[in-house]
Amino acid sequence: MTQNKMKKKEHNSAAVFLDRDGTINVDTGYMSDPEALELLPGAAAAIKELNLKRIPVVVVSNQSAVARGYATEEQVESVNARLIELLDAEDAYLDALYFCAHHPDDGCVCRKPAPGLIDSASEKHSIDTARSYVVGDKRSDMELARAVGATAVMVMTGLGEVELKRSEKAPDFAAADLGKAVKWILAQMENETA
Ligand SMILES: [Mg+2]
Ligand SMILES: [Zn+2]
Repeated sequence: MTQNKMKKKEHNSAAVFLDRDGTINVDTGYMSDPEALELLPGAAAAIKELNLKRIPVVVVSNQSAVARGYATEEQVESVNARLIELLDAEDAYLDALYFCAHHPDDGCVCRKPAPGLIDSASEKHSIDTARSYVVGDKRSDMELARAVGATAVMVMTGLGEVELKRSEKAPDFAAADLGKAVKWILAQMENETA
């Protein structure tokens, strides 16, 4: 499922790629019930800040629950629709949302840390990945950032604290939550254009 509100631009733009579970919403495990979806505090406000600055926000999410038989693809789509609805209630939106429904053993090109989701998004929406950011709570999100040459930002929500301790390589920045991550990213972007 993709949601596309982005306008075609002459130059490729820097984007913020966001993990879903544990980064935007509370991670309750393989999520199949849209009614159970709960945004993390400050997540919608953080996304709104990016929206106001016209910085593309693209969700990239592993949803192996589908391949594992814990959720149907339709259920994952309805959870995503609920996410968009909850964000909309706080005047925030996603420019696009991509997910991988495969099993880790499938060897697909889209399950993070493989770059398939970001590759598709970047081609479709003219994104410059080297100037972009990946925010997530897992090592696989940080590995994804490195795979596409983006800046890796780890949030301490979700599994972040545990995953940070297990990381061999430190992320470019560790943020308490998505709000703090976005503040740091915006400061980096301003430095870049200054
Ligand atoms: Mg996550
Ligand atoms: Zn996949």
